[in-house]
Amino acid sequence: MSFLEFFSPLDPCLESYHTEIMETKTLYYDQSWLDELDVSVLAIETCDNRPALVLDKTILYPEGGGQPADHGWINDVPVVDVQFAGETIYHVVADASSLAPGPARLKLNRRRRTDFSTQHSAQHLLSATILRLTGGATISMHLGDRFNTIDVDISALAPEDLLFIEDSVNELIRENFKIITHLCPPEDANSFPLRKKPPEGEQLLRIVEIDGYDYSPCAGIHLTSTGQIGTLAVLGAEKYKGMMRLSFIAGQRVVGEYRLLREATGAASRSLKVPQDELARAVANLAKKLSIQDKQMLILKERLASLEAAQILEETHKSPLISKVFSDRSIDEALRVGRALQKETDLFVLVASVPELKAALLTGRTDADLRPVCKSLLEASGGTGGGGPTYYQGSFSSREDLNKFVKGAENHEYFNQNRR
Ligand SMILES: [Zn+2]
Repeated sequence: MSFLEFFSPLDPCLESYHTEIMETKTLYYDQSWLDELDVSVLAIETCDNRPALVLDKTILYPEGGGQPADHGWINDVPVVDVQFAGETIYHVVADASSLAPGPARLKLNRRRRTDFSTQHSAQHLLSATILRLTGGATISMHLGDRFNTIDVDISALAPEDLLFIEDSVNELIRENFKIITHLCPPEDANSFPLRKKPPEGEQLLRIVEIDGYDYSPCAGIHLTSTGQIGTLAVLGAEKYKGMMRLSFIAGQRVVGEYRLLREATGAASRSLKVPQDELARAVANLAKKLSIQDKQMLILKERLASLEAAQILEETHKSPLISKVFSDRSIDEALRVGRALQKETDLFVLVASVPELKAALLTGRTDADLRPVCKSLLEASGGTGGGGPTYYQGSFSSREDLNKFVKGAENHEYFNQNRR
């Protein structure tokens, strides 16, 4: 009998292994079915400046092996994070004011545990399948609250490759392979055909086997069969640091994302009054139409600005500075008229937008330098801004400051002195 067959997860030697190296006895591997437990709060400390409890024992898995921490409750106070720090496990709580050292009831958020065990087990199956089908090894993985990613050491994956990978993994899920955890001393690790190198410095390794298909050293908590994953969806792949980053979801998350998509496509289909299977074509047509309309609109706006500029010029008599304050236009729209004026006249031009509290001075004259006068006007009105010899823009924090700038410019000697 090998060491591994001999070493069952409930072996008392394993228990003593845990108690030797930690203050907190860990039950999340050996009794992963436990939802609640009577514990004793040994100390209330801090972990990353958050209130945190040290317990005599725990059923909550601390973040590690790529798997996020379990959440739960202690005496109904939410446990929002669980972290290893040295040899201590900290149960970070939202608020420790109602807690004290002594007996307490610890509860596991089973929904979160099941979700992350599902994502994690699916990741093993996905990484193993990609390695077999493409030769690409998984270099890193991230299990997120909504989506998960793996970085695969391969330069490209075509959309049809992703479909084939997705189909293959779902077939393996339906085959319902057992997921088995072996505990082994590091010197025995070579007896397994491991997919990746085991971590160094561990006294005992956890090897997760998907029934002869995959062997991977891993400290996370997994499901006990691939069938429990339910289904896996590969959401996409993009190039990342010379590798391919695949995003995926598994289990109930697939249903959740499907519902969101169904609601979104349903709403879009009702808005456009087309059946859902014609939605892509309808949106493409709409985008094309909008793009043409945008171009037409721009041409019309330019024409309108030229007409407005001509009208403003007709009304301008003696002043060397044309000043136009728009109470209902953005600075970009105001500048459209400003630029049209610039083309038509040698006079200096000031346009301002009241909604955006911005103003701009501009001129078509190459012998002018607006910078000194604009700097002094901005200083006097409390505005900020910048620009060059023929264009300068300022921003203001109030209507009064903008008015001060406009009035200051209208009465400034510079424009009189430089008039043509
Ligand atoms: Zn794992």
